[in-house]
Amino acid sequence: MTAQAAELDPNLLAQSVQGELDRLRAAGLHRSRAVLEGRQGAHVVVRGRDFVSFASNDYLGLAADPRLIEAAREAASRYGVGAGASHLLHGHHALHEQLESALAETVGMARALVFSTGYMANLGVVTALCGRDDEVFADKLNHASLNDAMVLSRARFHRYPHGDLDALDRALGRARARTRKLILTDAVFSMDGDLAPLPELVRLCERHGAYLLLDDAHGFGVLGEHGAGTPSHFAVSSERVIYMGTLGKAAGVYGAFVASSAALIDYLVNRARTYVYTTATPPLLAAALLQSLAIIRGEGWRREHLQALIGDLKEGLRAARARLLPSPTAIQPYVLGSAGAALRAAEVLRAHGMIVPAIRPPTVPAGSARLRISLSAGHTLADVERLVSALRKL
Ligand SMILES: *Cc1c(COP(=O)(O)O)cnc(C)c1O
Repeated sequence: MTAQAAELDPNLLAQSVQGELDRLRAAGLHRSRAVLEGRQGAHVVVRGRDFVSFASNDYLGLAADPRLIEAAREAASRYGVGAGASHLLHGHHALHEQLESALAETVGMARALVFSTGYMANLGVVTALCGRDDEVFADKLNHASLNDAMVLSRARFHRYPHGDLDALDRALGRARARTRKLILTDAVFSMDGDLAPLPELVRLCERHGAYLLLDDAHGFGVLGEHGAGTPSHFAVSSERVIYMGTLGKAAGVYGAFVASSAALIDYLVNRARTYVYTTATPPLLAAALLQSLAIIRGEGWRREHLQALIGDLKEGLRAARARLLPSPTAIQPYVLGSAGAALRAAEVLRAHGMIVPAIRPPTVPAGSARLRISLSAGHTLADVERLVSALRKL
């Protein structure tokens, strides 16, 4: 057998991946999936048992809202289930059009384009805008999808230390003259919950002729006036910003969108490969999302309640042994250090009927394993008090 044939032997492959899995287990880094049996929300059922869940990104408690369910049901009976084709080959539905208009209006930008997922939106935008001759600048704590987008684009890239505007300024200053410069950042960092310094980033864009892809997966619906997201929170409006929001988190459904100028959106329709070469999302999702947007805009009490819960959690854990990172958002990381400590804490909470995911390397830097507490407007004050009391006893 040649060496190459040996490598392709299915038994050898199984052995080598098994070795890799054993190493992950030994390091406390192996992951598996809990199986939800009922609806997603602040309260979930796993193996027939009820839990309070602090694990979802359903920040406004909309994933199982009856109005969204009804909108999806109605659209399914009218229009069917599958879109049946890609957007450019007759899979683009009137409901997609309506949703794009409503999204553009919600975030106050000229146009919006709906993608299947946030992951695909990031890959699509960065690879459409940047190639070998361009330069990309990325915060070290960015979401994996932005990192993958940057690598896939083949652009030269620089990763700057988290939030380090001086380092970013220097890197931008060193960029070659005629390249396109694109900064990538999470607006709300997904594992730390802190905000990117948006006004300063826009100033750097202006100074260096750069553009900013702002990934607002955790800000859209939660922050800003009427849930319009992080730019609204900072009262920043700039043509330098390409906005990306996701629709599977606060919006409670599935998908993502990019909002920008009419020209850029038209360009993405033509050039974003993750838009062009994939089946359109089911129109029934667009119907549910239109309902979700109306609720996001109209029911400010959800954001107010969420803010009140965040305040209660912080207050309750003020004197606790471990610390919450300073986050003003629904993502409240409780840092315990080792992967083992985070796992043990998650197990104790689970025994008390609460689900809080332990986040371990490589998702977060070694030594900063944590419980990632995510709060939702679907939680009650009593839910949060129960969590606080269990965490204080850890
Ligand atoms: C969740 C997330 C994404 C991916 O969005 P999906 O729609 O789930 O693919 C992208 N960026 C950030 C910061 C995220 O948290």
